[in-house]
Amino acid sequence: MQEDVISTRYIKVDPCCPDRTVIAEAALVLRRGGLVAFPTETVYGLGVNALDGTAAARLFAVKGRPADNPLIIHVAGRDMVFQLAGQVPEKAILLMDIFWPGPLTLVLPGGKGVPAWVTGGLDTVAIRMPDHPVALALIREAALPVAAPSANISGRPSPTTAGHVLCDLAGRIEVVLDGGPTGLGVESTVLDLTAPTPQILRPGGITPEDLQNVLGAVEVHPGIRAGSEWCGETRSPGLKYTHYAPDAPLLLVEGSPESVTAKIVDLARQYRAKGLRAGILSCNGRKEFYGEGEVLQAGGRDDPAAVAAGLYAALRRFDELAVDIILAEGIKDEGIGLAIMNRLRKAAGHRLLRV
Ligand code: AMP
Ligand code: MG
Repeated sequence: MQEDVISTRYIKVDPCCPDRTVIAEAALVLRRGGLVAFPTETVYGLGVNALDGTAAARLFAVKGRPADNPLIIHVAGRDMVFQLAGQVPEKAILLMDIFWPGPLTLVLPGGKGVPAWVTGGLDTVAIRMPDHPVALALIREAALPVAAPSANISGRPSPTTAGHVLCDLAGRIEVVLDGGPTGLGVESTVLDLTAPTPQILRPGGITPEDLQNVLGAVEVHPGIRAGSEWCGETRSPGLKYTHYAPDAPLLLVEGSPESVTAKIVDLARQYRAKGLRAGILSCNGRKEFYGEGEVLQAGGRDDPAAVAAGLYAALRRFDELAVDIILAEGIKDEGIGLAIMNRLRKAAGHRLLRV
């Protein structure tokens, strides 16, 4: 179905202390069933009233999101959790005490009143409290739970600036609140508390180690380290889809930093000999080894948090540079590195190389 083009209101907001009239205007748009993009501490979200199935259906159409991939509901207080979930286990309370507001999404038994468009028809709900003054002010002012996937066209790298949002969604959504670049740069950790042992369905800002320190046993879903679409059983429909992909094919090279660099140098030479423009994504801080060409660096040496913060912007920059192929360095998949490698492996699909 072809969407009508609408005028998108772009509004700058102070990320620490947002103007109340701006927030009130955006909250009214949400209350009327409109779509508002806003900054969170992870990436930009595209918000909609989580209790309005019709509005949520439009969000799926605008993003081109598969209907069976459910949305995370963003709340500004625990009262909303009790309203949305059928049951709130002790472990959930403990995790909220420690990690909320923050990049941890809890999958809880479903309740009543959440439309199937939001849950993807599952009997569970995914809920988090974002750690960003603009997001919290907007949810509070709207006095609604706000379902918010990343504010991008499905399958594209997630947006970490309002410019990225406009690039994908200008003319399709009512409002973009620009609170500057997001801090963390990758999405929240999704933790399923309805499984017998708590299970990470998507790695993110809160690491498996952080969760194990609080809960003891925590499993990591086997699909998380897979590159192409996951074919096994899953309670997280998002695992099935290729995500985070730039326009050009991305080839991910994993191994020791030295062997990865040597392989990428060799591959880049071969592609260039064929007249192709190879972009190189350095995540190990080894940019200087590659010489001239389109070499982008996400983060610096031994600084995975900086890699996370710069990852999606670098992938989008390769689109602007219109390279033919992207050769990306892998990093250790531990700590926040697990989230980074999960995104890179998804972006790579089947194109994974171990050296
Ligand atoms: P996004 O909003 O694009 O950042 O993606 C949200 C992620 O949360 C996807 O991977 C979804 O599959 C996952 N998710 C949302 N709701 C549920 C749920 N009820 N059970 C399991 N996973 C969920
Ligand atoms: Mg997304």
